[in-house]
Amino acid sequence: MQALTELLPHPEHLKFQSLQLDQDREQSTLVVASTQLTNQCPVCRHTSHQIHSHYQRTVSDLPWAKYRIVIALRVHKFFCRNQACERRIFTERLPELVAPGARRTQRLDEQLSEIALALGGAAGARLSRKLGCDVSRTTLLRLILQLPLPQLVTPKTLGVDDFSFRRRQTYGTLLVDLDQHRPIAILPGREAQTLASWLQQHPGVETLSRDRSKIYKRGMNEGAPGVTQVADRFHLMQNLASVLEQVLSSHSKDLKAAQVNYRLAQGQTQVPNACLIVPDEPPPDVAAQPSAHRQQRGALHQQVWKLYNQGWSSAAIAHQVGMSLRTVQRDLRKPNYAPVYPRGSGKRSIEAYKDYLQQRCASGQRPKGLMQELRQLGYRGSERSLQRALQQLRQAKVIAPKRLPLNQVFPKVVKPLLSSLTPSRLS
Ligand SMILES: [Zn+2]
Repeated sequence: MQALTELLPHPEHLKFQSLQLDQDREQSTLVVASTQLTNQCPVCRHTSHQIHSHYQRTVSDLPWAKYRIVIALRVHKFFCRNQACERRIFTERLPELVAPGARRTQRLDEQLSEIALALGGAAGARLSRKLGCDVSRTTLLRLILQLPLPQLVTPKTLGVDDFSFRRRQTYGTLLVDLDQHRPIAILPGREAQTLASWLQQHPGVETLSRDRSKIYKRGMNEGAPGVTQVADRFHLMQNLASVLEQVLSSHSKDLKAAQVNYRLAQGQTQVPNACLIVPDEPPPDVAAQPSAHRQQRGALHQQVWKLYNQGWSSAAIAHQVGMSLRTVQRDLRKPNYAPVYPRGSGKRSIEAYKDYLQQRCASGQRPKGLMQELRQLGYRGSERSLQRALQQLRQAKVIAPKRLPLNQVFPKVVKPLLSSLTPSRLS
């Protein structure tokens, strides 16, 4: 008994009474009574000796081996005899053991908070279930929010930049400690005044790093006059790239000439009389090779519909299959699973349809309604890409030319060695 009492949190105020072991549910219930004979009124801090009654609280504690631990805690109610106090009766406080009204002991909450900080909500909930404490992910997130914020030490070098909570709608200002390389505060909005007042409340910054906008400059001048301001490398590179792009945009003819020269030079050294484009081997059809992820996702889609047909609600389905409510709702809009392919790959790109184009356009003539056919097959690219692909197939003599050539020698076809020189790519 003595040893068991020692295992209780803060045993000096507790008396262990009995233990019930439920082997089926792997749960053990400790019946424990408080031994405190006095307690402070939470309102007036007056110490009371007069016990009004007692009652039982049930709180979870750290698991022992495979057993979940529930403490059936017998505590008192006290009278407050302070005439000036508005409270007449109050419940016993055991602040080191459990917070008023809480369902878990302080030490269990501390452990769960550590798990939540390390893993976040969903992963943390999975681990704590394994460890014998069933909590939801929202509980873990709430525990994080209840933690006191770490003491903020004003950094010597502070980086300031805006970021969007929601693009083009809501913005915030992110403050980063550039000595420690970690974010330290988020301010609402991106106004100069907000930044200025933060800097006034946190003096001691020696260098401020910012983008080149006038807003933060003004905020820094107001909030921390005299402090060195520097433009950060990221924004300098970004500005440089955008200026370069502007300059290159005004030289599109030169770029084209450079590209042609480069290709000719490459072609002459590799393949005499060579020109442009066309794949020599069929491109991999991403759509034809269902990845493990897509298969898994398709199975989940079926399960969602199965549960839905059994009468489950969307929220219950989401909980059951471990997907977000939005994803479940999106799945329920489509009875059949339509996989999402990345841009420029698989069924969206014209590359996947070249064999089909070859069959349909073998005579050289483009059949009517070809674009609709492709759309039905899942093609999401543009008309221009389609025309380019047909042109390439003709050049590669995979399909017949539109008109029969008059003794014309076609150049040999090779794949481009260089993708097109656009201003944005170059910059
Ligand atoms: Zn009182």
